[in-house]
Amino acid sequence: MAPVKVTKICCIGAGYVGGPTCAVIALKCPHIQVTIVDLNQARVDAWNSPDFKLPIYEPGLEEVVRQARGRNLFFSTDVDKGILEADLIFVSVNTPTKKSGVGAGFAADLNYVELATRRIATVATSSKIVVEKSTVPCRTAESMRTILEANSRPNCQFQILSNPEFLAEGTAISDLFAPDRVLIGSLQTPEGISACESLKEVYANWVPTDRILTVGLWSSELSKLAANAMLAQRISSVNALSAICEATGANIDEVAHAIGYDSRIGPKFLKASVGFGGSCFQKDILNLVYLSESLHLPEVAAYWRQVVEMNEYQKRRFSKRVVDTLFNTITGKRIAVLGFAFKADTGDTRESAAITLIKDFQSEKAFVNVYDPQVSADQIWLDLQEASPLVPLDNIKKQVSISQSALEACKDAEAVVIATEWKEFKEIDWEAVYAGMNKPAFVFDGRLLVDAEKLRAIGFKVTTIGRP
Ligand code: NAD
Repeated sequence: MAPVKVTKICCIGAGYVGGPTCAVIALKCPHIQVTIVDLNQARVDAWNSPDFKLPIYEPGLEEVVRQARGRNLFFSTDVDKGILEADLIFVSVNTPTKKSGVGAGFAADLNYVELATRRIATVATSSKIVVEKSTVPCRTAESMRTILEANSRPNCQFQILSNPEFLAEGTAISDLFAPDRVLIGSLQTPEGISACESLKEVYANWVPTDRILTVGLWSSELSKLAANAMLAQRISSVNALSAICEATGANIDEVAHAIGYDSRIGPKFLKASVGFGGSCFQKDILNLVYLSESLHLPEVAAYWRQVVEMNEYQKRRFSKRVVDTLFNTITGKRIAVLGFAFKADTGDTRESAAITLIKDFQSEKAFVNVYDPQVSADQIWLDLQEASPLVPLDNIKKQVSISQSALEACKDAEAVVIATEWKEFKEIDWEAVYAGMNKPAFVFDGRLLVDAEKLRAIGFKVTTIGRP
């Protein structure tokens, strides 16, 4: 079967993945019309804003959107029109962890995937290639196929592909420009292989073909969960070692450097920290745990669950270290938390370690000043309210305030906690910070970001992860 030549793409979901991914496709493929649709009017308005105040912060993204928007890249809330016109549809909707019901706290909430799939089935008047871009449990494509076949017009054929996204927030654009690999999974039927070729042709406009891997549908779905589980496992492994370092006098940076020199291990993703955050690692591992349990593989489930438990332990351990160091009480003390995003170069706060730390400090009756260069005050209040749903927001605001700069956040504080590795925290005027703080002045570096010796020379008492 000759592959369909893709001329119109629709992406359902204009979030952290759908937005950057399809903006880059539009940039690299000027001959393809790309329409990104979303039900969220505010988000679409932001993508379309005349002054390019985009809904997500990502280095290099604005430049991509400036070049392609209005040429062959469009953002819209008209989901049906997007579906009708496209020959290839990405489903890039959110797949959060289920909050209630069966599998709550573990299973993926596939409601958004199902609704988007039903919409495609109902609206489409011609055959389409439907691409899972969202991270989904293994064999979700089977459910999508059943929904599409049961609800579509008789003349419409749907081929389902899996094309998981491996970009990392903060480096999304460079990841998309030069991906380690693009993974496409399809059924090994003539129609499936032909659909796979159509998508491969799109990526081949800028990705070398030896970096475009084509595999079976179920392998592709599982590979995304596996990749995130392996990455998170490295972080939990190094964080587990950091606890041993603190107790023995070993230094986690030296240990990570030494083990990373082994070419079988490699140096990346061996940085100890206060714990991983973000919308994906925890959710995808829990997904794997749930999948393993559903497949009656309890030992496998327990193995992966431990990666998440280690992460929770690392956050708790860090909060406890702050309390212990501040003479076993932080009641009434002011703590500056620098950073609220789950990592640097993003405004995304989902599952950020900062949220857990601030909640712990609140429960110890401390006062907290928060500063983050990219996260809005509205987002911070939303996250803190969600973390403590039973506490009225006015009460949260009595304990937490939001500062406009790092220096302001640290004024009159007893301690500074670095929760996000923003480069600007490395470069702040630490002498001025010290001058404005109560003494003794403490720094707790949750990201191994600052030069501890330099800060000690100023007078700070510095605690870092993975060192005694
Ligand atoms: P997101 O929440 O930022 O974006 C999802 C968007 O989909 C939202 O704007 C929502 O309004 C929209 N949406 C939901 N249902 C819809 C529907 N029926 N019709 C139209 N729009 C709809 O999520 P995200 O971070 O972009 O993640 C999307 C998927 O990609 C998830 O499965 C995630 O696990 C996966 N993923 C995320 C990352 C990451 O770094 N964020 C990386 C790789 C993969």
